[in-house]
Amino acid sequence: MTLKTFRKGVHPHDHKALTESLPIEAVPIPGTLLIPLSQHLGKPATPVKERGAEVMPGELIGEADGFVSAKVHSPVYGTVKKIVQQPLPAGRMSDYVEITVDREQTAEHVWQPRELDWDMLTRETVTAGIRDAGIVGMGGATFPTHVKFSPPPTAEIDTLVINGVECEPYLTCDHRLMLEHTTHLLDAIRILHRGFAFKKILFGIESNKPDAIEAVTRAAAEVTDAPIEVVPLKVKYPQGAEKMLIYAATGRTVPAGKLPLEVGVIVSNVFTLSALADWFLLGKPLIDRVITVSGNGVQNPRNLRALVGTPFARLVEACGGISDSVVKVLAGGPMMGVALPTMDYSVTKGSSGLLFLTDAEVPAEGNCIKCGRCVDACPMNLMPLTLAAYARANKFLEAKELHLNDCFECGACAYNCPAKIKLVAWIRYAKNYVRVHKL
Ligand code: SF4
Ligand code: SF4
Repeated sequence: MTLKTFRKGVHPHDHKALTESLPIEAVPIPGTLLIPLSQHLGKPATPVKERGAEVMPGELIGEADGFVSAKVHSPVYGTVKKIVQQPLPAGRMSDYVEITVDREQTAEHVWQPRELDWDMLTRETVTAGIRDAGIVGMGGATFPTHVKFSPPPTAEIDTLVINGVECEPYLTCDHRLMLEHTTHLLDAIRILHRGFAFKKILFGIESNKPDAIEAVTRAAAEVTDAPIEVVPLKVKYPQGAEKMLIYAATGRTVPAGKLPLEVGVIVSNVFTLSALADWFLLGKPLIDRVITVSGNGVQNPRNLRALVGTPFARLVEACGGISDSVVKVLAGGPMMGVALPTMDYSVTKGSSGLLFLTDAEVPAEGNCIKCGRCVDACPMNLMPLTLAAYARANKFLEAKELHLNDCFECGACAYNCPAKIKLVAWIRYAKNYVRVHKL
């Protein structure tokens, strides 16, 4: 099998054996949901339900505020208790809609298949459906998906690349989706193809998921109305980063500072596909997601399907608790995830992982030995040690001159650093400073 890939990158231990063979299980419906109105890049949604309002599954509770924004829906029957301000895992503040859940009524709710009129699917109706469902990119960026599927009329889009890579260590939720919901994902691709008539549809999967490659290849062979080709990829981090994946799958290079549409490509993550099929085939907006709870500090690692707004504490309960040896909790994977100071957060559309790491999984930081390994690892050809040094010295303009904003925070440099210097944390700090102060 020929395995495609990109230049540079690193080979971290994947730690996927903890959960890759575990089927997706539903988390019990919690008594309270805390649903952020800012779960996406762009402007937060505006609350449309007041305190005391009754809601039902799929009902709008947050209206998109402008084009680059996303709708938010209630996952449950219940009552809006209040709207509160709280931080998101990355530190930004957000309004949250707190819902007291009617668990009994919610448990009885079943999303029924609805008849889809395939002849009505056009670029406009597909994009409108994506917007109505509140779908955002769930490979990490949480960019509103309808924006991605609204390229300017001058853009010549010919290729759809599906991101089934899941290169972040520990995370296995996309892997499980590809195994357990293969046809559902391919139905989503067929829907997209009706709207966009792609010349090529390339489904990229890393070769450490041979069962997923086999399942998708077998199911794709049955599809006669979309040109789907599975592309097995070499196991290397960050193979799932958009620009790296596009290069590996198509051989095209997205120029620095440009978007995939510049080279005729749209990339979609597998969970984004799942949400799309949920909307068009069941009428279910994006109200839940699959999340991997893992790390050596959690009693029973699992792949869980949780309603958006489920408190993280409920996920921990569903996994039998955590041990005393946990030294770090991460939202997301170990390469791009965010360290959490508390557990007072809830599941959002972008939650892919919750990791409980022990001492052995979190190496101590030393001093820079000027070895250059961080530079060797960077797929964007940046100078991570210099960017981090500028950030430490508050020299933000100098960092910007060195293409600070081309860093997409993949963490390959920090992984490759023998001194385990927190390069990404410093770079992220500098990027935030530059953004907030509009330097
Ligand atoms: S500098 Fe940024 S893009 Fe380069 S390896 Fe580090 S985190 Fe990744
Ligand atoms: S890899 Fe680490 S130790 Fe080596 S030059 Fe970069 S920051 Fe310094």
